[in-house]
Amino acid sequence: MQLNAGDLSSAVDRLVTAILSANSDGQFALVGLRSRGDEVAERILEQLASRGIEVPMGVLDISLYRDDLAHLNFNPKLQSSEIDFPVDGTHIIIVDDVLFTGRTVRSAIDALMDYGRPAKIELATLIDRGHRELPFAPDYTGVFLETERMDYVDVRLVQTDGEDAVMVTKN
Ligand code: 5GP
Ligand code: MG
Repeated sequence: MQLNAGDLSSAVDRLVTAILSANSDGQFALVGLRSRGDEVAERILEQLASRGIEVPMGVLDISLYRDDLAHLNFNPKLQSSEIDFPVDGTHIIIVDDVLFTGRTVRSAIDALMDYGRPAKIELATLIDRGHRELPFAPDYTGVFLETERMDYVDVRLVQTDGEDAVMVTKN
């Protein structure tokens, strides 16, 4: 096992500390990317609430979508969204469990822009596994995991999977 429940809890703590040190006014909103990014966002939200900071939270579902039948091309596309706060003028922190190529984040930014003009968009990831294909760097990182491009990082979170654990599967 690469990361156990304690490691994951420290990674969430690191995100909360970094987010708060950059935004002590609590003037931002979280947008979790389903699946598991929403669970990470909820954990951040709980920790903020325990410090008396209430921020809005929304969820975007950006899943692989086959948009070119001829070439069996899969691209991350918005499938559904639950954003019930005004995006216009809001500082939004996108939250995901794993950051890999950056293509999902790009689609998330596109989707948010369709709602309005955020004052600022930042990115928080529980795990950065490297191998970016687009020029995105996270503003807040829980933990960096060294991986090969073909590896898969199996992230298991209590609410979604019944336990907190991360394993890197070699292909
Ligand atoms: P990207 O679009 O950056 O390549 O991939 C990020 C999205 O795909 C995230 O929403 C993340 O949940 C998922 N993802 C990409 N690679 C992995 C991985 O190795 N493990 C897990 N659990 N999810 C991944
Ligand atoms: Mg995810």
